[in-house]
Amino acid sequence: MDSIIANNSTIHFNANCYNAINKHIKENNFSKIFILVDENTHQFCLASFLEKLETTISLEIIEIESGEINKTIDTCVGVWNTLSDLDADRKSLMINVGGGVITDLGGFVACTFKRGIAYVNVPTTLLSMVDASVGGKTGVDLGHLKNQIGVIDSPDLVLIDTNFLDTLPSNQMRSGLAEMLKHGLISDVNYWNKFSDLSKLSLDDLDELIYESVIIKRNVVTEDPREDGLRKTLNFGHTLGHAIETYFLGNKAKTTLLHGEAIVIGMILASYISTELTNFPKTDRDFIKDLFISYYGKTTIEKADIKPILELLKYDKKNSHGNINFVLLEAIGKPKIDCIVDESIILNAFDYYAN
Ligand code: NAD
Ligand code: ZN
Repeated sequence: MDSIIANNSTIHFNANCYNAINKHIKENNFSKIFILVDENTHQFCLASFLEKLETTISLEIIEIESGEINKTIDTCVGVWNTLSDLDADRKSLMINVGGGVITDLGGFVACTFKRGIAYVNVPTTLLSMVDASVGGKTGVDLGHLKNQIGVIDSPDLVLIDTNFLDTLPSNQMRSGLAEMLKHGLISDVNYWNKFSDLSKLSLDDLDELIYESVIIKRNVVTEDPREDGLRKTLNFGHTLGHAIETYFLGNKAKTTLLHGEAIVIGMILASYISTELTNFPKTDRDFIKDLFISYYGKTTIEKADIKPILELLKYDKKNSHGNINFVLLEAIGKPKIDCIVDESIILNAFDYYAN
């Protein structure tokens, strides 16, 4: 698998990762190296990463607690203080080894510390490999509002070593897979067709599928880095999906849905809405629903849940001027952005999902 250039970063895969990082360290005369992990990536990923790192430069490990709840400015302050206490300077290198929480937060910390130090991202979840690692978005949450504080910046390198996935829990694998399915639906029918039987998906095929997914995301974000047009297509399934995710998170009576699990529901609903408002074929819509439900199961969304979910839509940061904007499909691989959808159609979509 060749390396991929994305904005100012180079993304390397598997064996190439370690040649790239070792060469990068040799060529850049870094003063110190700081590796950011959470307790899980400390346990499961750090040793194998360090084994392949060839350097005599002083190396410090900084650990933060895992989980979205810790993707906050307070955690950043802790990491900034640690960097400062450990004499990090402008020639220091930060290496973020973890899922999207670590790469989003670590990227933000690095590009703000002393007005920006060099950093490398090593995504260790499927979601962070195919989604968070590409596109330059860094940042943290503000209270309950996700990703409110941040900057667009690029790590020097992104190292995608799919061996890290061996220890990733299966629900986290399924969550990441949802973004790959989305990439197929919004941009490439041939790629989408490779997922036509999810039950037969083999880990042997995964490396190639991850590689293709990264290329799809790279192509979208390179064309539209600031989300003026094409990049909005990446929000397919996310308008309702994100509202459902937030609603389930804040409701003690519900089991929490991982991001990708909620996005899968959002994609089924958006496919239904597409058939109502574009020429998207009903056969494709039904195929998507059956495929996703057979693999992810069906989540019970009661009638009483729908109103509060719709309320949450109004806070979606992607909405503008009070309108709820959807990404729909005209065909597989052919998305349509900025679609305004009446509430009655959304209600019908929930009926379609439930029945
Ligand atoms: P995460 O970082 O919370 O990781 C999920 C869990 O897996 C954590 O408990 C983590 O400790 C554990 N883990 C990580 N790697 C592991 C491994 N190899 N083995 C065992 N356990 C491991 O979550 P995520 O799903 O990777 O990322 C979600 C975050 O990414 C969100 O904050 C989201 O906003 C962000 N994100 C950012 C972008 C972007 O463009 N910057 C895009 C998508 C998502
Ligand atoms: Zn997503």
